[in-house]
Amino acid sequence: MKRIYLDYAATTPVHPDVIVAMLPYFNEKFGNPSSIHAYGQEAKEALERSRRTVASCLGSRIDEIVFTGSGTEADNFALEGVAFANEHKGNHIITSVIEHHAVLETCKFLEKRGFKVTYLPVDSTGLVSPDEVKKAITPETILVSIMYANNEIGSIQPVEEISKITKAAGVYFHTDAVQTVGHIPVNVNKLGVDLLSLSAHKLYGPKGVGVLYIRKGTKMVSFIHGGAQERRRRASTENVAGIVGLAKACELAGTEIDTESIRLSGLRDKLIKGLQQIEYCHLNGHPERRLPNNVNLSFEFVEGESMCLNLDLEGICVSTGSACSSSNAEPSHVLLAIGVPPQQAYGSLRFSLGKWNTEPEIDRVLEVLPRIIGKLRAMSPLVKSKKS
Ligand code: PLP
Repeated sequence: MKRIYLDYAATTPVHPDVIVAMLPYFNEKFGNPSSIHAYGQEAKEALERSRRTVASCLGSRIDEIVFTGSGTEADNFALEGVAFANEHKGNHIITSVIEHHAVLETCKFLEKRGFKVTYLPVDSTGLVSPDEVKKAITPETILVSIMYANNEIGSIQPVEEISKITKAAGVYFHTDAVQTVGHIPVNVNKLGVDLLSLSAHKLYGPKGVGVLYIRKGTKMVSFIHGGAQERRRRASTENVAGIVGLAKACELAGTEIDTESIRLSGLRDKLIKGLQQIEYCHLNGHPERRLPNNVNLSFEFVEGESMCLNLDLEGICVSTGSACSSSNAEPSHVLLAIGVPPQQAYGSLRFSLGKWNTEPEIDRVLEVLPRIIGKLRAMSPLVKSKKS
């Protein structure tokens, strides 16, 4: 059976051109960029070339790009780096209730270290209000961290409007763009952010490599202590092959982003429209301000996990929420935050589309899922009581 992968927000396959670009850096060009001999210099050149590519993709300066070991590390670095370097100025951080756990757990950690965190609510479409950000800023505020696009419901935040507010208040602004880079154009100066996280494995690059963009002049403490790599901001021998792969993935995304986002939003809308024909189905997230590849729907009277397993038996791979929380029995914190009742949140599916999805694959989901839901609902006593 040919499987259909609709979980690109969890991770993407590595693009064949990315693999080709990476391969030499595992054997013939295996040097350590800190070594002064020819092998080292060859690796260093590849590292700096990659930095230039990523900087040009984000519209940043070259020295504002710091390679990290993941998107999670970039988020941890952004929050802890700013918090510990600026605690003499204030101890207040603002974020939102729908952030990825990489941000939320770091905030909890910082709370234990004496920082105060305001978790802003979102509206029913998953958007943070710039006005609420403005109101939450106090003289103690040092950092605002609001994600660019949500990994579960795909809602795209008004980052440019928020940055105008943080700039006027003299507060640093970080955005987690892990789900955004590669899907919609991202330019750090247009956005006005001071820090931005991304992760290679969400845009057809390898796992275990990310970037933290740090605007020049941002006061940060370094995150991993050791050698002098990454201008002393992040110690450890660089993952040269991974970084080369990340840069190639960014370069490819740059050339394909416009056509791909149009193609994917077409497939996304077809899937949404088709599935909304099912009774008791609700779209989660913003109807328009959403990632071109994200579909998140709740179906009453069925469990997300049962739908997921039944789809898997038919060769269709989707997720009940974010990959990181799919082993968690709690309903999604994002769905609860947008006001989805807990029982309904349990009946949610996330489809995230990507480069290799085709229209016949969407047709197949539209044929299979209604049948699965019908079968599961036929076994549910809750449906009968609602209808009678
Ligand atoms: N932030 C968001 C919004 C994500 O979706 C993810 C991964 O799913 C991360 C951060 C973590 O990235 P990584 O898997 O590279 O650690």
